[in-house]
Amino acid sequence: MKLIDSHCHFDFDAFAPDRSRVWQRCLAAGVSRMIIPGVCEAQWQPLADLVKGQPGWYAAAGIHPWWVGRIEDLTVSAEGLDQLGHALTSHVREYACVAVGECGLDTAIDTPLAQQEAVFRLQIEVACALQLPLVLHVHRTHNAVLRLLKHYRPPRGGVVHAFSGSEQMAGDYWQLGFYLGVGGTVTYPRAAKTRRTFSRVPLQSLLLESDAPDMPLSGRQGRRNSPEHLPLIAAELAELRGVSTDEIANTTRHNTEMLFSL
Ligand SMILES: [Zn+2]
Repeated sequence: MKLIDSHCHFDFDAFAPDRSRVWQRCLAAGVSRMIIPGVCEAQWQPLADLVKGQPGWYAAAGIHPWWVGRIEDLTVSAEGLDQLGHALTSHVREYACVAVGECGLDTAIDTPLAQQEAVFRLQIEVACALQLPLVLHVHRTHNAVLRLLKHYRPPRGGVVHAFSGSEQMAGDYWQLGFYLGVGGTVTYPRAAKTRRTFSRVPLQSLLLESDAPDMPLSGRQGRRNSPEHLPLIAAELAELRGVSTDEIANTTRHNTEMLFSL
């Protein structure tokens, strides 16, 4: 079995003490590639340095909504956004990032939505201009995000990471060329709606992800999540859909390769 973790913050400090040992365990478990999202401008370069010369690790670059409020001097002026757009464009080009993100909208934080949306729009525009997929973070903002995607129609689509929502919502994203990220949520019996959605939508629309070090699996709450647990998510999805884990592994791996042009 060969799996790709389509969303793992493997560059975060949580993995600093034992990153190479965790990676060895990933390889032993069949997790041989991963996409590592960008979260803020200061992190892009260290991330690019981390993935350099490391087979199977791919970097994206973007500004996560949780970091939007921390951008110094961002008054969401045309000039400030312009500079940010130039910095993102040149970084993505120079380091051959595989996607723009993670980016999106989140109502659970204090940063005003207008400010989040300005920075999100900027990243959608960069993805459109560079013909790259988007890695989306969508928290209770599906309608607003879908409205923006229908407006821009990003040519390479992307992925809604850690998707939780209805089958209808999943279909709306898929029609716009957006895959759905299946994470640890499916291992929780109480996540009935999300489990039902993932049992019904086309397997061709799904990617696997850990979102490590966040999103621990059921039974592992309060502990650091790790990409080495990805096979458990694959097994859970296989059981939900009544297919073999190999079929889940092969199809989601193919989907991930297609989306990110791996
Ligand atoms: Zn993330």
